[in-house]
Amino acid sequence: MTSSSDLRERFAASLMPTYGVPPIALSHGRGCEVYDADGRQYLDLIAGIAVSVLGHGHPAVVTAVARQAAVLAHTSNLFVHEREVELAERLVALVGGDAKVFFANSGTEANEAALKLVKRAASPGRHYYVASSKGFHGRTSGSLALTGKDAIREPFGPFGTEVRFVPHGDLDALRENVDEHCVAVFTEPVQGEAGVVPAPEGYLAGVREICDATGAAFVLDEIQSGIGRTGAWFAHQAEGVRPDVLTLAKGLGGGLPIGACVGLGRYADAFRKGDHGSTFGGNPVACAAALAVLDTIEGEGLLAHTTVVGDLLAEQLEALDHPLLAGQRGSGLWRALELTAPHAAHVQEQAAVRGFLVNAVTPDAVRIAPPLVITPEEIGVFIEALPTVLDAAEAAATKEKQS
Ligand SMILES: *Cc1c(COP(=O)(O)O)cnc(C)c1O
Repeated sequence: MTSSSDLRERFAASLMPTYGVPPIALSHGRGCEVYDADGRQYLDLIAGIAVSVLGHGHPAVVTAVARQAAVLAHTSNLFVHEREVELAERLVALVGGDAKVFFANSGTEANEAALKLVKRAASPGRHYYVASSKGFHGRTSGSLALTGKDAIREPFGPFGTEVRFVPHGDLDALRENVDEHCVAVFTEPVQGEAGVVPAPEGYLAGVREICDATGAAFVLDEIQSGIGRTGAWFAHQAEGVRPDVLTLAKGLGGGLPIGACVGLGRYADAFRKGDHGSTFGGNPVACAAALAVLDTIEGEGLLAHTTVVGDLLAEQLEALDHPLLAGQRGSGLWRALELTAPHAAHVQEQAAVRGFLVNAVTPDAVRIAPPLVITPEEIGVFIEALPTVLDAAEAAATKEKQS
């Protein structure tokens, strides 16, 4: 028995079946390369769902984490420590000042903090929230209540949070559903889990306008889109729009768990002492990793790199002529291959067989979100193999249909 199949069997026996049993057991990585438990090598084009922005084993993260773990790994929020303050200052500067940060440990917790923050800031007559259909904000009850993917939300309701869903990007529907009784609008600039689906141009500016007109808070979930993924620090910056609350997680820690809820303007000081907390939030090791990530993105010019390599990837995908490939969408190093048939799972599987990790994010879309350090050469290797992968996916789909 191979090490992978052994691990998968033990996984199935000892872990809850929330994820099924993942097909591959990863063992270690270096840069954009990862290896499975049987020693097979892969080019990582998904980065643990847009998380490992510097790839694997980046010396800046390794050094920062090792140093901090050796000096002081945990303080709790009973004590101040320098890394947390530094990281908050950096994030405040990156959003353009006049803001404060609450640190959590994950994306869903960042959104839970945002939910409480906007509730605290709202006048008593405000009682409902508006979010986007097919949106994703996390799996804990508050974030789940705001999540527009019905299949994952409905079995666990009701949540005690009144939420109205409107189609993502539809400003008329938003205008109809937001009034002076609305606490906040929660939305993503690009819906990651729905398949890297961008909103129409001008959407964020429209949300800003509707929130300004009604006094509802504008909460922008940049948990997946933030930290350089689209070629800007945050996707909203490219549109020149400032939300009231910004949530971050995935790429921020470069693989270490950390989330952040950033309150801008009057939302910086809306929480009162005792309103919220987290034992691990702002953990020194996670903050040290995040500081290393931000330093490296800045020092190595990774925002510009992401734009250049992302555009190159898009161009090469557009130039590819294959019956299963309808096109691509997204920005920066965050793309979806649009398929002409619902064979994404086959594409993911056949890509892995040939040494490429991609993600079947929906039945007809394959998500690509590689480390931001990926090179044009590595992209080239993938593009060269892609026609063969798509051929094999089509063949596998045909075979499945026949059996
Ligand atoms: C991943 C994600 C979340 C949830 O983050 P977790 O760390 O898994 O809790 C929330 N919102 C968006 C947009 C995400 O992509």
